[in-house]
Amino acid sequence: MARYRDANCKLCRREGMKLFLKGNRCTSDKCAFDRRGYAPGQHGQSGRRKGSEYGLQLREKQKVRRIYGVLERQFHNYFIKAAKKKGITGEILLQMLESRLDNIVYRFGFAPSRKAARQLVRHNHILVDGKKVNIPSYEVKPGSIVSICEKSRNLDIIHQSLKDAGKEVDLDWIKIDKVKMEGQLLEVPTRAQIPTLVQEQMVVELYSK
Ligand code: SF4
Repeated sequence: MARYRDANCKLCRREGMKLFLKGNRCTSDKCAFDRRGYAPGQHGQSGRRKGSEYGLQLREKQKVRRIYGVLERQFHNYFIKAAKKKGITGEILLQMLESRLDNIVYRFGFAPSRKAARQLVRHNHILVDGKKVNIPSYEVKPGSIVSICEKSRNLDIIHQSLKDAGKEVDLDWIKIDKVKMEGQLLEVPTRAQIPTLVQEQMVVELYSK
């Protein structure tokens, strides 16, 4: 399966903001964006930025895609599905991305980043309603219980992540039991409940051209 293999920190520098792709490193003084907050490459420090409407919309789309770790084609498919549903397309798009199993594992605090969460899912460490699911894009439905499978409960990465979890944001649409190593998606979050700092309307405008 195709996936992004280049340095994650370059993506933050390209987008001009911290995308929090590397767990604890992002809040430490090792963060590359804090140390070199300009775009990567030879002309990165020249400050030259695309100012056109299209350029801004494109950057916003890339930002959302990179935060959730979704490749272009799959992201476009999410948009097509969101546009067919009743409601505000941008909000539905974010709700679909938030319902992905890898994102839920990250939100529950089982992994320090979405990338690490994706690996936990792929390596069969995650159960949904008691059944193993190893598809990162699996859509978690409200009411579903996501947990760590028995044989993986000693993994250091999960314990450390659970210890650190909850430092940044408290989300009222999920319920986590750290002792049982499980969590429940209580409801699909509204836009106001999703703490992702993006302008999703610009993504809709881009794809609607
Ligand atoms: Fe981005 Fe995290 Fe790298 Fe900082 S450490 S540049 S926030 S991925």
